[in-house]
Amino acid sequence: MRSGVRIIMFGRQGAGKGTQSTRLANHFGVPHISTGEMLRKAVKQDSVVGRAAVSVLIRGELVNDELMVSLVQGRIGQEDARVAGYVLDGFPRTIGQASALDSLTEARPVGFVIDLDVSREIVLGRLSARRVCETCATNYTATSIEQNPCLCEKCGGRIIQRTDDTEQAINHRLDVYEAQTAPLLTYYQGRGSLHVVDGVGSPDEVFNRLRTVIDSGQ
Ligand code: AMP
Repeated sequence: MRSGVRIIMFGRQGAGKGTQSTRLANHFGVPHISTGEMLRKAVKQDSVVGRAAVSVLIRGELVNDELMVSLVQGRIGQEDARVAGYVLDGFPRTIGQASALDSLTEARPVGFVIDLDVSREIVLGRLSARRVCETCATNYTATSIEQNPCLCEKCGGRIIQRTDDTEQAINHRLDVYEAQTAPLLTYYQGRGSLHVVDGVGSPDEVFNRLRTVIDSGQ
């Protein structure tokens, strides 16, 4: 019997990580743990974490490792994730976070590390058109919602542009990704656990590629 599915998803912002992580999580019946989503929720709730993170998020920089590790430690320790596994989206983002995650997952190691590969040029175009439901975080593109007066098809929530999806913040986040997160690909490649999956194509095409990789590795 399978003892859970534990997946880390890497990819530039706008590569489709959120969409594909949700699909994988539904497919395998595990929680989708998005650290960006956790932080945005905390900001919306004006919690202690939200207040500590809000200006960092708007600038497109990284929240400190200590806070991020404790957030993830709390979440992956919950019953659903502990037993069934998870799809981790947006974490780790630094070498410090990756080595903390190694310690946290010693007993139940991550099985798949995936790099959803989409070039910077392509994600820049996608991100400036990205819109998101402020209630359930479903992604839309600016062109697809022209006919609909900006309400989410799934939950009726308001569709907005993320405050960190301005051109300047997008470019900065992509620079931060290249500088701090891309080196993690080498880190996981060195252990032979990295799978690079082409993220260009329709959501169904990309999802099928991901499933093939995971199914063949189980
Ligand atoms: P995302 O939705 O994954 O693009 O994350 C949005 C923002 O949340 C990032 O630009 C960072 O400011 C912050 N963030 C999310 N995950 C992390 C992480 N693992 N480490 C540090 N900051 C993070």
